[in-house]
This record gives sequence, structure tokens and C-alpha cells, in this order.
Amino acid sequence: MTKFIDLNLDPAVLRAIADSGYETPTPIQAGAIPPALEGRDVLGIAQTGTGKTASFTLPMVTMLSSGRARARMPRSLVLCPTRELAAQVAENFDTYAKYTKLTKALLIGGVSFGEQDKLIDRGVDVLIATPGRLLDHFERGKLLLTGVQIMVVDEADRMLDMGFIPDIERIFQLTPFTRQTLFFSATMAPEIERITNTFLHAPARIEVARQATASETITQKLIQITPPRRDQSAKAKRELLRAIIKSEGEACTNAIIFCNRKTDVDIVAKSLKTHGFNAAPIHGDLDQSLRTKTLDAFRDGTLQLLIASDVAARGLDIPAVSHVFNYDLPSHAEDYVHRTGRAGRLGAAFSIATPADDKYLTAIEALVKMAIPRADPPEGFSLSDAAHREPRKYDDDKGPKSGARSSRTRSGRGRDEKRPPREDRAPVIVAVEEDSSLIVDVPEAKRSEGRRSEPRRNDSPRSESHRPDPIRPDGPREDRRSEPYRDSRRGRDGGPAVVGMGDHVPDFLLRSFRTTKPVIEDKDSDEAPEAEVETPVSETSEG
Ligand code: AMP
Repeated sequence: MTKFIDLNLDPAVLRAIADSGYETPTPIQAGAIPPALEGRDVLGIAQTGTGKTASFTLPMVTMLSSGRARARMPRSLVLCPTRELAAQVAENFDTYAKYTKLTKALLIGGVSFGEQDKLIDRGVDVLIATPGRLLDHFERGKLLLTGVQIMVVDEADRMLDMGFIPDIERIFQLTPFTRQTLFFSATMAPEIERITNTFLHAPARIEVARQATASETITQKLIQITPPRRDQSAKAKRELLRAIIKSEGEACTNAIIFCNRKTDVDIVAKSLKTHGFNAAPIHGDLDQSLRTKTLDAFRDGTLQLLIASDVAARGLDIPAVSHVFNYDLPSHAEDYVHRTGRAGRLGAAFSIATPADDKYLTAIEALVKMAIPRADPPEGFSLSDAAHREPRKYDDDKGPKSGARSSRTRSGRGRDEKRPPREDRAPVIVAVEEDSSLIVDVPEAKRSEGRRSEPRRNDSPRSESHRPDPIRPDGPREDRRSEPYRDSRRGRDGGPAVVGMGDHVPDFLLRSFRTTKPVIEDKDSDEAPEAEVETPVSETSEG
């Protein structure tokens, strides 16, 4: 069996690996390190958890150990889709380059430009960045990419989901043609294939076996309920979720609960907390320091239940958990595999489904090539009376209670106005629509704005026009850039563009006329007391 010492790595790197206690490279490391050290491009098809970060970090540290960085001209570049992932890669560099003199800088949103500028000015060997922040630095004239000898793209499929591919293409074009490229993706969507064909030169392709599908090692259960009322579906699901967690008892040492929408991540987390569970949310709208704190607490075991969106959870180096709960079945079947793969070898994955999820269930079962075993709700479980009743409505004018804001306030916030952390905001009690058909159609450009949580500087995809169709993230790309404008200027029937206002469309014309009446749940009910309305689309941005 190959050992690290057989891989021609720099002795300083080998020492650092030994300190970490690793002797044997994982398959992606054994496959990617030798061609990388030969200077070849590498296409690694591997998921998080396979050791892929070290598969590019180790050869990079080895190759960069000779030579010096020049001011504002990094010698290598690692692009990551999210801040958390970038921070994890930076930690890997700290670990494996600790016996070298290599310097690094981490360019992510939510951190002041000043400090990052200083580091770049001094000259860095390794620049680890999210695409938006990197291009911001470049556009401010603070950074030259012409000295990049090695470029890494990590989690390319997630970059695609998040609409970063145009940025990645641009960054590729700003780096020298002669650079070496190490490119990693968990899947090879057609768009990813196209990028690799365009920017990689005769790459060594290393594909490691997909993480065993959950079916082999993890107990999976699907619990289906038919909520008595459609407008109480979320409530019914929360009641069932609590019952399942309770029925698992001490076996549930730690768990990730997945929701499809950021709104639901917040609601489920608050509901669980209200019921005395040790729970906290993580998604792209939350303040960076809070996200880091939450993750640290989950890693060190002080937080038991992490409620997450797929985007926030993807790529995170979180130890395997005892349980995964799909509060929502994922709308992308592949996410079912990613999610359940989070459970440890003997873990359990519970999914909750309502009849509205049938199409997702069909897609998931087609992908995993098995029927997810059905299970009954825990013994003695029954829905509360409140779940059978119409949610209580309040008069819009009066508002549900003092201190509450209408969702209009939120949508009226300036685009670049940073929202305070959720905790600091006044509580709001509003209806959460389960049925997206209730929503008046809003042009995509404007809808995206509503979805967007932070100013662009914070590593949101650079332009909403780059954002992929949330339903078909890997759909044809060529029209994407122009699509939002086309939508916002044409009639619903796709008729000719309205002339006279140019690209400008007054805000009031684009505003959603959705009438979201504040609703308060039963007083006696034990539900999440407050939440804010968001446009109910899948989370596609990572702040
Ligand atoms: P990654 O896929 O890069 O996120 O790595 C997943 C986990 O595997 C991390 O916690 C690494 O520290 C760990 N790891 C990396 N390389 C090895 C190795 N050769 N042997 C055992 N664990 C490793």
C-alpha cells in the first residue's frame, strides 16, 4: 500500500503529515498527488470527506517551497465556493505548511478589505479566496493574477449551484495560460465538463468511488404524513420531527436537520429551541461570526442539533453525526446522498415526506436505485389539535404584536444595506406559505434580489444575472446572463421589451403583491413563535 513517504513530498510536508498522525494517503490523495507533483493538471472527482483538500494542499506546499512571492502577485490561488470551506482550506495550509516559510492570505467576505490588502501587498504564496471577494480585490487594482503558477478550483459543482461559474471563467482568463490547474468536483455536470475541457490541459483524471450510498451503511427511514390541513403542513412536520428526535432518545447524540429553505431553517431551529432542544441554525443569511460560533459548538459537541440548508452544510468538515433528519426531502435528488452521507457508519437518516413531496421522492429513489424503507411515526404520535385548525389570522393593519415588522419593511431595505444579525432584529410573526403557487409571480431579477441576503462584497455571486435557475442549476448557460433583464422587460407572454425606460424599471412595478397576512400560531401551541417571510425558493446564495 502506498505511504506518504513514497509520494515525493517535501520533507517538511512529510513531517507535518506525521504530526497529524496520517501515514497512508486516501485514494484521492494517492491518485492526485503524483501527477500534481509532475506539474500536470488534475481533475479530481471526489466529495468532501475523501481527503481531497490535502490532495491539492500537499503537492502545492511541496512545489511552492522554493521561490518567493512578489507584492500583490500571489503564486497560487485556491477558489472555494463558501467562506467556511475557504477557512477550512486555510486551516489545512496552516497544518501542512507549518515547517515551511510559505505565506498565505484568506480573502473572504465579511472581513475588512484593509487587513486583506496588507497581506496581499506583502506578497503571498497561497491565496485562498471565494470568487466574489477575489474579483473585488482585483477590480480595486489591489491584486495581479499574472503570477499564479497553480490554480485550484474546489467544489466546482457547488460553484455551479451558486452561480459562480462566470466568475471562475473570468478568473481563469486572468491567470497565465501556463498555470497548472487542480480542479475538484463531486459530480461532473455538463457545465463542469465544459469548463474542464476549456481550461484544463490533458488533465490526469482521478475519480474516487462515490461515498457509499447511505443504503449500505446507514439506517434510512421515510415517514410519510398527510397533514390534515395544507396550511398547517409545516406545523405538522415540526411536531413529527420532535417526536422522532425524542423517540431516538440517547442514540441521537448529534444530528443535522436539513431544510430546503432558509426561512424554514430559522423556523425549525426556533421551534426546537422553544421545546427545550439544544438546536441552532446555519445558513447564508446569518452573520459570519455567528456561523463560525455555531459550527464550533457543533464540532465540539456543545450543540446537539444543527439545522442547516444544503448550501451552508455542503463542504463543511463536520464529524459524522449519529442522525440526519430531512425535515424536507431535498429538491435536488443528489442532495439526498450528500445529506445522508453525513451520518456515521452506523447512523440513521430519517426523512419526513408529505404528499407534496412525491415528485422529489420519485427522483431520489430513482437516483439511489432503491425504495427508502417506509416507517410509521413514533408510537403514540398524533398531531396536536392546533395542527388541525386554521392558523389564526391577524389584521394586517394592526399587526400581530408590538415590535413586529411587516415583510414589506424587509423588502424595502436598500440593496446594500447590511441586515443586522437575525438575533438583533425585532421579532416578526408572519405567515409562512407552504404553497409557492400562492405567490404572485415576480420577475426573476427582482425575485433574486429578495433572495439575496447581503451586499455583493460578501461573496454572494457577483451578479444576480449569473445566478442559475434554481430549478435547473445546470441548465444551459448561454442565456443566463441576459435572462433576468429579458424577464423584467418583457411581458409575461414573452412579448417585445417595453421601450422608454431603458433597463430601469421602477421598484413599485416589480414589487410582489403577495398578501402575506401575519398569522400567529395558537397561543397554547408550542410552535416557533416567529419567523420572517422570504421568497420561498431554494437557497442558492452563500453570503
Ligand atoms: P476533506 O475531504 O479534505 O474535507 O477531508 C476530510 C477529513 O479527512 C479531514 O478531517 C482530514 O483531516 C481527514 N484526512 C485527510 N487526509 C487523511 C488521511 N490520509 N488519512 C486520514 N484522514 C485524512
